[in-house]
Amino acid sequence: MGRLRRSRAHHARRDVQRGARTRVRTRDLDMIQLIDLDPKNRAALEAQAIDYEKPGLAQHYCVECAKYFETDAALQSHWRSKVHKRRLKQLREPAYTIEESERAAGLGRENRRPQTVSSTTMETDMMGTA
Ligand SMILES: [Zn+2]
Repeated sequence: MGRLRRSRAHHARRDVQRGARTRVRTRDLDMIQLIDLDPKNRAALEAQAIDYEKPGLAQHYCVECAKYFETDAALQSHWRSKVHKRRLKQLREPAYTIEESERAAGLGRENRRPQTVSSTTMETDMMGTA
């Protein structure tokens, strides 16, 4: 039996996955660690004004994951979820700083304190700006 459907049937939506990736992109870990987790910034993020553009009117926000939730129940269950716990673990590791990027580039004082690189994705992210 021959092919029933044309291939490339969705030619106009070929980039739908890239669009999704960019849309769900959240704040970088180092931004969260250095800015959002500061107690006063955190309080501001947790008590945001009602925003009709945001999911759940911006009333249910997870600071660690930089993510909005529709309901309080959703936020509560998110806090118990694997995604959130993994995130907490990542955030406990030291943030990627300018100093570290200089060390990676061979500038500055390497061999001073050997440190494990927290995540490879952050490495590649920051490589260009180093
Ligand atoms: Zn979370």
